[in-house]
Amino acid sequence: MSIWTTGGRMKGVRFGCSEGQARTLAAYRRGESDLIHRDGLWLLTATCDVPDVDVTEPDAFLGVDLGIANIATTSDGERHTGVHLNAVRRRNRRLRRRLQAKRTTSAKRLLKKRRRKESRFARDVNHVISKSIVTEAARTGRGIALEDLQGIRDRVRLRKPQRITLHSWAFHQLGAFIAYKARRSGVVVTHVDPAYTSQGCSACGHTDRRNRPDQETFSCTSCGFAEHADVNAARNIAARGEAGRAAVNQPNAA
Ligand SMILES: [Zn+2]
Repeated sequence: MSIWTTGGRMKGVRFGCSEGQARTLAAYRRGESDLIHRDGLWLLTATCDVPDVDVTEPDAFLGVDLGIANIATTSDGERHTGVHLNAVRRRNRRLRRRLQAKRTTSAKRLLKKRRRKESRFARDVNHVISKSIVTEAARTGRGIALEDLQGIRDRVRLRKPQRITLHSWAFHQLGAFIAYKARRSGVVVTHVDPAYTSQGCSACGHTDRRNRPDQETFSCTSCGFAEHADVNAARNIAARGEAGRAAVNQPNAA
């Protein structure tokens, strides 16, 4: 690339990006790019205008349940754990407490750097998870059903130390990443009401708080169906996605 500087034009400046980014840049770059200096790194941001792919109307949906221990669990039973991410957050929280006690300028600068590093890490994790989910939905010709995230903070009740790790922006970011990757692949995304998805039985529909003896276990008191609690919830989300979509596509619905 070449850059205009106060000292004139610099030509043939090397930059690094992924193969996919290079393809997107070559085909769809529009307008100007911005050069940003952050935490000692020079970052180039370019606007790309990627056309939407034609959407295929799915018969079935891949349901996705969001949580803390498992960031995302699919109705196929695939769990994306947040173990590593939560460990990074715990470590940073300890460091933050120590640095905040110091109140010096350099401590503040280090804090800021840490915060950014943590959000970059969460962003990477969200990219990996969203890619895996969208790829699987596209490969199997399904749509994606997600929980409507309004009020996730109220819904997820946790003990205090865990509550701090609940960053609702990270969930919204994951939802946004899934949405834009899905649009590029022609995959439909639908949002469903998440009420009682964790207490309802995905096999018989029986809803009872006692179906959920602990955080990880779902065991239906009516039909005996047992499954990991997050997988059961994801199956309910998939079913709601299918039901909601069928209602929308009724010829007289509009
Ligand atoms: Zn049941």
